[in-house]
Amino acid sequence: MTRLPSFNSSQRLRQMHNVLSEAYGPQHWWPARTRFEVIVGAYLTQNTAWKAVERSLANLRAAGTLSLARMRSIPAKELQELIRPSGFQTRKAPALKAFITFLDAEFHGSLDAMAAAQTEPLRARLLALPSVGFETADAILLYAFGHAVPVADEYLRRIAERHRLLSPAPARNPSGYQSLVQLTTAAFASDPESARPLLYNEFHALTVAVGKAHCSRVANCAGCPLADDLLFTGEGKRRYVLQNDSSLVSASACQSKH
Ligand code: SF4
Repeated sequence: MTRLPSFNSSQRLRQMHNVLSEAYGPQHWWPARTRFEVIVGAYLTQNTAWKAVERSLANLRAAGTLSLARMRSIPAKELQELIRPSGFQTRKAPALKAFITFLDAEFHGSLDAMAAAQTEPLRARLLALPSVGFETADAILLYAFGHAVPVADEYLRRIAERHRLLSPAPARNPSGYQSLVQLTTAAFASDPESARPLLYNEFHALTVAVGKAHCSRVANCAGCPLADDLLFTGEGKRRYVLQNDSSLVSASACQSKH
C-alpha cells in the first residue's frame, strides 16, 4: 500500500514556506519607507485592514507627521484626526505617544539604540506598553529592528488549524499565539541563525499573501499553492493512502469557515 511520507508539523511548515516562496516570489516587506513608519504601521494595523492604514499613513505624511520629532510634538487630538481612517484612534494615538515617551526615557529618543537592545528584554518592555500585544511587539522587533522573531497572525492561525498542524488547534489567545511562534521557530531551527530574520520576514509576508488570496474566513483551496499539504490532514491522508492520487485533495478539508 502506498503510504504518505512522514513529516512532522514543523517540517511541513518549512516546506510551505518553500512552496509559497516559489509561487509568490520575494515579498519585500514591510511596506514602509523608514523604520519609524514600520512602527507606526504596526500600531495602526491592529484590528484594521491595511488599506485603511494606508489612508492614515497618507494623512500623516501629508501633514509632515511621519517623523519622531513631529509626532512627539503634535497634540494628541490632532494625531487622532490624522489616523482616524484606521479606526480606534482614541486608543492608537495615545499608544503611539506612549511608545515615543518610552523611547525617549529608555533610549534617549534613539531607534538605533532600541534596535541594539537584547531581544527578549526588549520584547517584554514593548509588551508592557499600552495597546501592544504579541503581534505588534513581534512585528516591531522583526520588521523595524531586524531581530530574529517570528510573527504570527490570523492567517497563520487559520493555516495551522485547517492543515491540522497543531493539536489542539491554536486559539485566538496568547497561548495560541505562542504555539504558532513555537511552531514557526521549530520550522526554521535548522536554518543558519544569520538567515532567520529574513526567513521570518518573508514567511510572515507569504502567509499574508496566501491568506488574502485563498485562506480568508472561507477557505478557497482551488489553486492554492498549499493545497497539496492537505494530504497530511486526516481526510486527505486517507484518500492518498487509498488511491495515491494527489488530485483527490479532500474537498471537505477546504470548506471550513472560521
Ligand atoms: S486555502 Fe485551503 S489549501 Fe490554501 S492555505 Fe487555506 S486551507 Fe490550505
